[in-house]
Amino acid sequence: MNKLSERVNRLGYSQTFVMSNKAREMKASGIDVISLTLGEPDFDVPDDIKQAAFDAINENYSHYSPVPGFLELREAISAKLKRDNNLEYKPSQICVSNGAKQAIINVLAALLNDGDEVLLPAPYWVSYDEMVKMMGGESVILPTSYVTDFKITAEQLEEAITEKTKAILFSSPCNPSGGYYTYDELKSLAKVLAKYPHVTIISDEIYEYINYETKTTSIAQFPEVFEQTAVINGMSKAFAMTGWRVGYSACPEWLAKGCEKIQGQMTSGANTVAQRASITALKNDPSNYKYMIDAFKKRRDLVFDLIKEIPGFKVLLPKAAFYLFPDVSHYIGKTLDGVEIKNSDDFAMFLLEKAHVGCVGGVSFGSPECIRFSYAASEEELREAMRRIKEVLEKFS
Ligand code: PMP
Ligand code: GLU
Repeated sequence: MNKLSERVNRLGYSQTFVMSNKAREMKASGIDVISLTLGEPDFDVPDDIKQAAFDAINENYSHYSPVPGFLELREAISAKLKRDNNLEYKPSQICVSNGAKQAIINVLAALLNDGDEVLLPAPYWVSYDEMVKMMGGESVILPTSYVTDFKITAEQLEEAITEKTKAILFSSPCNPSGGYYTYDELKSLAKVLAKYPHVTIISDEIYEYINYETKTTSIAQFPEVFEQTAVINGMSKAFAMTGWRVGYSACPEWLAKGCEKIQGQMTSGANTVAQRASITALKNDPSNYKYMIDAFKKRRDLVFDLIKEIPGFKVLLPKAAFYLFPDVSHYIGKTLDGVEIKNSDDFAMFLLEKAHVGCVGGVSFGSPECIRFSYAASEEELREAMRRIKEVLEKFS
């Protein structure tokens, strides 16, 4: 008997974890699988950040912190937002959470009533749609494609906004496309959104530092929308701290209070040792950790050159984050080696089984014609993965 709540029955599993678990199981059974599934840096946590964690343990940071995080950490975040983004947030507007994932859920939980609509430009990060559902909302998908650089236009946005629209949620830099909105593009989106103050902008900037071109812009930098924006960021990507689970939101005061209220009942706040270590990470000059970004850039260039050679893949050069998001519509609707490929999830499974390379299908990113590879892997693995895929697909081109 299924005794689970409707809320849980409605919910899907996180496809990033589904595919990474599949790849892990195959590996455990002795198959040589290269997993380019999960988006997480393969670097160790930098030594100075680790040392700050050891110090925190020795100094007995073993009790609950304030629900929204230690004041010193919120001050460091406030200083970071000023230093890097020219944004003025008081510590009272910041809520530190168990990863950016919880920071986003807090904001959605604080905002949504049943049936409220949230605009999701596609492709979107897999969890957004499920988080909206979990909080009783309904996602309204704004499609984009390879041809439009996977970005929405101001006109498209304006057409989608209704009285029921409560929020728009997007990542820039974007997981999975690897693109980001330029200053001018964000300005035109901000101009539209400023006309609709009932719409809260949830701007996920977790890939801010993993960026190979110019510095990215936060939509919160436009004064006309500052008061209606929640900025999301965290430690996972830039500092290779995925398992330490520290992220944060910076919001208007009323929304920050809502997040704090929810968090106080749900998790009591983030791990104290990881919070202390995050202070060190944020106070340091970001250039200290640039060696990771340099390595990602080298891998991006390598893998982009190789993926272009794969028949039937159409791919844009990612400008940020560590994903490639090729359009593989060439293979959709075909039968390959007796396997029917109805969508890119089937295609991702086909690649896992035939080429022993794990990636994530685009269905749960809202782009069923694409697949996502994370290139946060060694150069050797990337070379071999692309070689295997090319070899398997050459006979179908
Ligand atoms: N936003 C985006 C766009 C992501 O890719 C991720 C995945 N790590 C998150 C938020 C959540 O990050 P975390 O919870 O590890 O801080
Ligand atoms: N955000 C990463 C990804 O997209 C990690 C997995 C997850 O949190 O879903 O692969």
